[in-house]
Amino acid sequence: MSDVVVVGTGPAGLTAAIYTTRGGLKTTVFAGIQHGGQLTTTTEVENFPGFREGIMGPQLMSEMSAQAERIGAEIVYEEITKVDFSKKPLRLWAGDREIEAKAVIIATGATAKTLGLPSEGPLMGRGLSTCATCDGFFYKNKRVAVVGGGDSAMEEANYLSKLASEVLLIHRRPVFRASNIMVERTKKNPKIKMMIPYDVVDTIANDAGLTHAVLRHIDSGKREEVAVDGLFMAIGHRPNSTVFKDYLETDENGYLKVRDFTATNVPGVFAAGDIADHVFRQAITAAGMGCQAGMQTIRYIEEHY
Ligand code: NAP
Repeated sequence: MSDVVVVGTGPAGLTAAIYTTRGGLKTTVFAGIQHGGQLTTTTEVENFPGFREGIMGPQLMSEMSAQAERIGAEIVYEEITKVDFSKKPLRLWAGDREIEAKAVIIATGATAKTLGLPSEGPLMGRGLSTCATCDGFFYKNKRVAVVGGGDSAMEEANYLSKLASEVLLIHRRPVFRASNIMVERTKKNPKIKMMIPYDVVDTIANDAGLTHAVLRHIDSGKREEVAVDGLFMAIGHRPNSTVFKDYLETDENGYLKVRDFTATNVPGVFAAGDIADHVFRQAITAAGMGCQAGMQTIRYIEEHY
């Protein structure tokens, strides 16, 4: 039995583990299918404080992971596939392996949805991105495209318009999911050109990375190659909460609901990072929430055990 099981090894989970371990709790961390979380799919991170020259996303996560292990957290490279939070101790399973815990911190994050283009693997970070705040800086004075018609797409297009020479906003229908105010702001932005109704069906690249997006006009079916250096997919995120949904309250989009900072509806179960925050979604805010969850877990165990 562990004092605390942390599920997820992004900035939220690893920060939580650093705090609970230093607080004297036996901490077991399950890495899941993507050890290090979303930052392992990015390139340079320039907005995480403490690194004057920036740091590569995978290196930042590898350092955080090594730090948690050096302090004494046990990292298990398996995925939690089932839980039972109906009674104490809390129970979790990684395949056949069962583990009991006094407290659980869920930091399983969210996964950015992608278009499913054939080039997605090799071009991710070399022209394709799912995060303008993370990667926009690398497209200064370049021509980029954003795909999507929700608030995220509007926000990303407006953010990128301050850096890029031109932003194409590609959406598949004349109606937007985004709020009116965001759509109006985007339409008024002289650096943003809307391309509607189009979807992106392919990409063209050279050795340096992306050079063109291949679009298809939805009504006519006609294909068009558009020169862009960056293609940002802003078509929503999927919170990784399926395993917990029988026990924990979620909002209508599947994000875990928290109150009193990081507490879920089950006493002793806390949530931190993107799994409970669809607004900021930054490494530093996730780490901050991980710290809160870690400290709240220490207090919970002191009070109940
Ligand atoms: P969203 O509202 O679900 O919008 C996703 C958009 O992507 C839709 O326009 C959808 O098109 C499009 N899309 C989905 N799959 C696609 C595909 N395979 N190919 C092409 N287009 C595709 O997601 P979101 O924009 O990330 O917003 C999520 C939530 O966060 C919303 O509640 C939003 O209000 C909130 N949010 C708020 C702010 C803010 O207030 N500042 C900022 C960001 C997000 P269709 O419309 O045709 O389905």
